[in-house]
Amino acid sequence: MAYSSKLIERAIIEVAKLPGIGKKSALRIILYLLKQDKIETSMLAAGLSDLRENIQYCSICFNISDEEVCSICTSIRRDESILCVVEDMRDVMAIENTEQYFGKYHVLGGIISPMDGIGPDELNIEALVKRIEENSKINEVLVALPATMEGDTTTFYLTKKLKEYKIKITGIAKGVPVGSELEYTDEITLGRSIMNRITL
Ligand code: ZN
Repeated sequence: MAYSSKLIERAIIEVAKLPGIGKKSALRIILYLLKQDKIETSMLAAGLSDLRENIQYCSICFNISDEEVCSICTSIRRDESILCVVEDMRDVMAIENTEQYFGKYHVLGGIISPMDGIGPDELNIEALVKRIEENSKINEVLVALPATMEGDTTTFYLTKKLKEYKIKITGIAKGVPVGSELEYTDEITLGRSIMNRITL
């Protein structure tokens, strides 16, 4: 596409690099920004730049944090005996929102995906093993990874890797979503729900 301005073209190329944004959406965003006060755009640019410069990963759990150690890791109210292993910070947020989990976390920073060239060495797995080895209070690892082929592969890898330690390895239950009808639930989910049935 030919643009009347090199400045617009450059901005579009940058914005269109964001996930889920094509060149048309990028142009829409840029035209929107141009209509705003200059200060709004400056604040956006400064906010993003500040974020990139100053954000860090917690040195213990690898969750994104403003400090060297995140607020969950430093909290004395959290149960130190259980670690919940998740893919990234979005999962930490999702689990925190349930208000049903009071242990600590370990963020892998991704999941094993040979198609994308991500193997176990690219993830924070060695650090997880080290944490378990160095903290005798940890007696359970709850693996909460996506119910996809990559998620299952990673769960399998972790289970094998952690087998030699004297800890309980658990996984999140997979079942029928709250409020849904059985007949509309896919057969794999329904099958797993039956396999993992609970005593009432
Ligand atoms: Zn942390």
